[in-house]
Amino acid sequence: MSGRVLIVDALSAGSGQRTSSRDSIGCGPRAVAGVFEKHGIQCTIRRVDEVLPKRGALKRFDHLAVSAMTMDQVAVQKMVKLWRHFRQQGRVLLGGPIAADPENILKQIRPDVLVIGEGEATLDELLESNFLEEDVALADIHGIAFLESDKPRITNKRDLISTEELSERFYPSTSRIIDYNAYQACKVYVEILRGCSNFRRTKYPLADGTLCSECSNCDSEDSSKRIECPEDIPPGCGFCSVPGTWGSPRSRSADSILSEVKELLDLGVHRVILEAPGFLDYMRGTTPLTNPCHPPANLSAIEDLLGRLNSLPQVSEGNVHIAIENMKACLFTDEVAETMKKSMRSSSPNIGLETGSEYHMRQIGKCGSPEDVVRAVKVAKAHDMKPFVYLIYGLPGETAETTEQSVQMMRSVSEAGAERIILYGFRSLPGSAFAKYPESSLKDEFGQILRTEAETINLQKKEQYLEKVVRGIAAEPSRTHHGFTMIYPLEEGPLMTVPGGFSAGTLLSVKVTSVLSSGLVTGEVVDEPSHD
Ligand code: SF4
Repeated sequence: MSGRVLIVDALSAGSGQRTSSRDSIGCGPRAVAGVFEKHGIQCTIRRVDEVLPKRGALKRFDHLAVSAMTMDQVAVQKMVKLWRHFRQQGRVLLGGPIAADPENILKQIRPDVLVIGEGEATLDELLESNFLEEDVALADIHGIAFLESDKPRITNKRDLISTEELSERFYPSTSRIIDYNAYQACKVYVEILRGCSNFRRTKYPLADGTLCSECSNCDSEDSSKRIECPEDIPPGCGFCSVPGTWGSPRSRSADSILSEVKELLDLGVHRVILEAPGFLDYMRGTTPLTNPCHPPANLSAIEDLLGRLNSLPQVSEGNVHIAIENMKACLFTDEVAETMKKSMRSSSPNIGLETGSEYHMRQIGKCGSPEDVVRAVKVAKAHDMKPFVYLIYGLPGETAETTEQSVQMMRSVSEAGAERIILYGFRSLPGSAFAKYPESSLKDEFGQILRTEAETINLQKKEQYLEKVVRGIAAEPSRTHHGFTMIYPLEEGPLMTVPGGFSAGTLLSVKVTSVLSSGLVTGEVVDEPSHD
């Protein structure tokens, strides 16, 4: 049997320390661990920020597998350098969204194998061929890149995993959840579907000048035709690489999702996010699903999935919160909201607006319209949900006019009942249509206008929590307020910090007493903390 594998979760680590999404556990590293377990190979997951300072621990492992995004390149470089220093032998595998720029990553990081795109089937074949122990003919394995005589070699593309394989051949590790610090308090992402249904494309030129030639495939009634672009423009919103990398949506069976969630809850997880680029694509339409707005959501499949999850004892007793995030506004109707309200105690649908300009929205390849987003927020609010609305500053095509329209639209969605505005700076992702476009900067004039507006709205929204009691779960000591503990909302609500030390997983109720920033409130514990 092969030796122990250290799986390093570098997702969102940037240059080595996660500053955002600290309460999130993504599904990629557990999916990788599931393939090692399938082959009877022992593995352990560690966050990169825990491993980098504890070098000696590396000696316990024989091989390294790193999961990372493009933004994490510096952290991964540090990690692999450290590994090579302590362990001259043993394989180094690297995968995740970082692999979208293979030539650069091979040159900069020099892993033994870079796994491109979906990792499970590729890793399965590598382990089948005994790659950890022997030299194998890497050129014959699809979906990887490696250095051959110091030159990048990229093998043939691997076919996407089928719906059946996603449900039956591969299964994410649940036992390795215990490797994460404070996992009991974290949002644990469970993948319910992979890929995105938006096969529209941007009308702006790519960085190399390639331009849409108006062949009309993007609007074809034939769903297979929408996949083909004669100009090879990546599908989807220009800033996003999901449909280009992961293809159109493939849903996991409710049985497979249910057993994964059940095992995680039995290990003490309290917060589960049903991960999907678009939740309402779950079991929607026929394959390939390339129209983001038609047909409507498959309500019976959604009802069945949520109903079965709700019947798990920890959920029905109210000690676990199951949540959903991303939803496309054009699919979010009254019927959808009604179904979700029946099946979920509370929820915060995340709705992408990106820009307040309808013209700009269409030009970047996004589906729907700003009015769709306002309507979706109103529908959500009418059903007691707390929708978050996402925008991006620094996008290609941003002007004084689109900025003004975005400010107006932030106010409209706020009035319509948005709980929070989440504003991101544009990052140029390899594999997306806007790859190699200049990135946003904090100094951008339009970005500053948008940030100020978002901050004003978010502060007002936080003030609405003053004197309210919010149920939360203790996570970790505060890094900014000495002697305080960070408390994540168990259901919906703000990030909180309270005086005193509480161990991870402690359930408590907090009365909010003051707003510290647009993203953080403080308060006092008002009941006996309990462990579940
Ligand atoms: S498939 Fe390509 S060329 Fe045809 S309309 Fe869409 S972006 Fe334009």
